[in-house]
Amino acid sequence: MDVKIIKGCGFCAGLVGALKKARDARDKDGAVSVFGKLMHNDLFIAELEKEGIKTIDDPKKATTKTIIMRPHGARPDVFDKIKRSGMDMIDATCPFVKKVQDTGIEYHKKGYKIAIIGKKAHPEVDGILGHVDDSFAIKSPDEITGYVRFKKLCVISQTTTLQKNFDACVAKLKPLVGDLVVKDTICPAAKNRQKDTEELAKEADVMVIIGGKNSSNTRHLFEAAEKHCEAYHIESKEELKTDWFKGKKLCGIAAGASTPIEKVDEVVDAINGL
Ligand code: SF4
Repeated sequence: MDVKIIKGCGFCAGLVGALKKARDARDKDGAVSVFGKLMHNDLFIAELEKEGIKTIDDPKKATTKTIIMRPHGARPDVFDKIKRSGMDMIDATCPFVKKVQDTGIEYHKKGYKIAIIGKKAHPEVDGILGHVDDSFAIKSPDEITGYVRFKKLCVISQTTTLQKNFDACVAKLKPLVGDLVVKDTICPAAKNRQKDTEELAKEADVMVIIGGKNSSNTRHLFEAAEKHCEAYHIESKEELKTDWFKGKKLCGIAAGASTPIEKVDEVVDAINGL
């Protein structure tokens, strides 16, 4: 059986940058806290804890001199709380997440209500909702009913939303809103991985998607793959089963933006050794 990996696996640029900021601060102070998870990959978060990079869910719980803001960002009141605590803060909000926030703020100033295609409970969307007045989240086209009441609506996206879901929401909104502005703010790392995963799934007999079970972008890769072939979402090589590959000619591999390249290599080696 051949094994083929999509291009560009490994941490995305946003996580590489955030990880560097966290490690530099840890090297300076001995330990550092991160508000929220640096990434949705619990295995890697556990490794970071051992390195002195601690995850906290409340700035009051920090015992370090410096706190890093996670790449997903947060509501303005969280930033205020950290500032008031007197701790040093290093903002590692991903530039692509900031771009979504800025786009929402810009169009709100122009008189638009702002719809974010994404999951309301996701930390990134929660942060955007906090930064952008008059904004609300839409998870899927099923939630779209009666939007005629918005004369001016600007649609933006969570950075890791599945492209097809974004396009389907926009298509459903178009006939319902008088003045609709569409800003596709899905980040390039998520967009390219979705496209490449779907392309590879069309030619593969089986796809293995590697990444945290709580990682939104990894789950979307799995959803894109399973439409075209048998697909499995795993966090580590220990979950692989020999049966998945029996009689298969091509196995495709994709990984979420929060999966280190070493984990991908481990899985590929394990599949080749089955
Ligand atoms: S997936 Fe995109 S938005 Fe999220 S951290 Fe990576 S580069 Fe930034």
